[in-house]
Amino acid sequence: MIRVCAVHPTSIAAELGLREGTELLSVNGRLLDDFLDWEFLTADEEFVLHVRQPDGEEIEYDIERPLGEPMGVSLDPPRIRRCANRCDFCFVDGLPAGLRDVLYIRDDDYRLSFRYGNFATLTNLKPHDVQRIIEYRLSPLYVSVHATDPTIRRYLLRNPTAPEILPQLQDFAEHGIEFHTQIVMSPGVNDGPVLRQTLSDLYDFGSSILSCSVVPVGLTEFSKHHLVREPTAEECRAAVALVEQHAQRCRRERGASWAFGADELYLRANLDLPPAEHYDGFDQVENGVGAVRWLQQRIESAPLALAAWADRRIGVVTGTAMAKLMPLVLRPLEESTGSRFELIPVVNSLFGSTVTTAGLLPGAALQEALRGRTDLEMALLPGESLNDDDLFIDGMSLELLQATLPMKLYPSKDFVDVLEAPLAA
Ligand code: SF4
Repeated sequence: MIRVCAVHPTSIAAELGLREGTELLSVNGRLLDDFLDWEFLTADEEFVLHVRQPDGEEIEYDIERPLGEPMGVSLDPPRIRRCANRCDFCFVDGLPAGLRDVLYIRDDDYRLSFRYGNFATLTNLKPHDVQRIIEYRLSPLYVSVHATDPTIRRYLLRNPTAPEILPQLQDFAEHGIEFHTQIVMSPGVNDGPVLRQTLSDLYDFGSSILSCSVVPVGLTEFSKHHLVREPTAEECRAAVALVEQHAQRCRRERGASWAFGADELYLRANLDLPPAEHYDGFDQVENGVGAVRWLQQRIESAPLALAAWADRRIGVVTGTAMAKLMPLVLRPLEESTGSRFELIPVVNSLFGSTVTTAGLLPGAALQEALRGRTDLEMALLPGESLNDDDLFIDGMSLELLQATLPMKLYPSKDFVDVLEAPLAA
């Protein structure tokens, strides 16, 4: 059963009388478990929908609708699939106490992997899940492989019963499922020869594996430092060398890079990022792979309302990781607008200075960095540091932050979202 949480007023669902609280029970006699069932089982032009209204009345509708016309319902969020692993580098272990409960949930959900590109380990799949992945053709999936050697992978995941990943991927690949993969590199465990082997195994697997990224393990001051450490610059350089060897080979043999290092890997290695062409279709940009080059490209190619941005003083707030690369993006913007874009790198006061990503900046740190800056007309904030309710990770709201600061705040995912819109006076 799935519960409706909102109905679009001019939709088929509204015409039928579905409303907030309506329970969607089955389609063509098949019980509905979650949004995947709903989307896949209602994809046809005709189907029978069985619902229970909030007053308890059960109704069956024979639905005919033009193909592609949405039903117009929003559903309650799905119950999160809990993770079966206990990785030493798990971000949840690196959280300080006292944050919102939802942040402490270890999720590992193939449905969100398909829908949003979240990485999943596939270690918690039940036979029913396997069937659904195949029946609904959930492809591509984003899979955390980490190591193809089963013993090393089980060690990394701290899960002695984790199934072997290559046969698991093979079963899905035989049904046409494709994968983007990642290797979170934990030095001394899955770098060096293990990384070489993993990259080779995944490459040799064939065309069902669309890409493979290597991401250095990231820890906070609360992480299990007695069990895991971050890689050194030298270890990151060695990993980049392996990645680039595979990318070269793949470009020769398949005409695509296929293997990628996360921007963070290059940063830690003190190496220049590859050019934009290296990143194929930027398939793993949400995973921090090619994010800077993607941003540059996006700014260069977007029709920006640059005139509106002339002669302004704009603060650009980011984490300390991107701060090193941000001049690559801001310099051309300054040249084309004549405005001053002042980079404001913010140290993470919640997780400690080792957490350098902009997405985890707490509102309190942004407040501190921008307090009293009456010289700035506006500040661009990293959009990824806010959740859907406009809350920062420490629970501060954007509204509250705005009320305490003298300049206008613009959360931005990629600059273009703000720059292409004319500015509010
Ligand atoms: S797979 Fe590992 S890192 Fe991911 S949620 Fe589970 S324990 Fe944490």
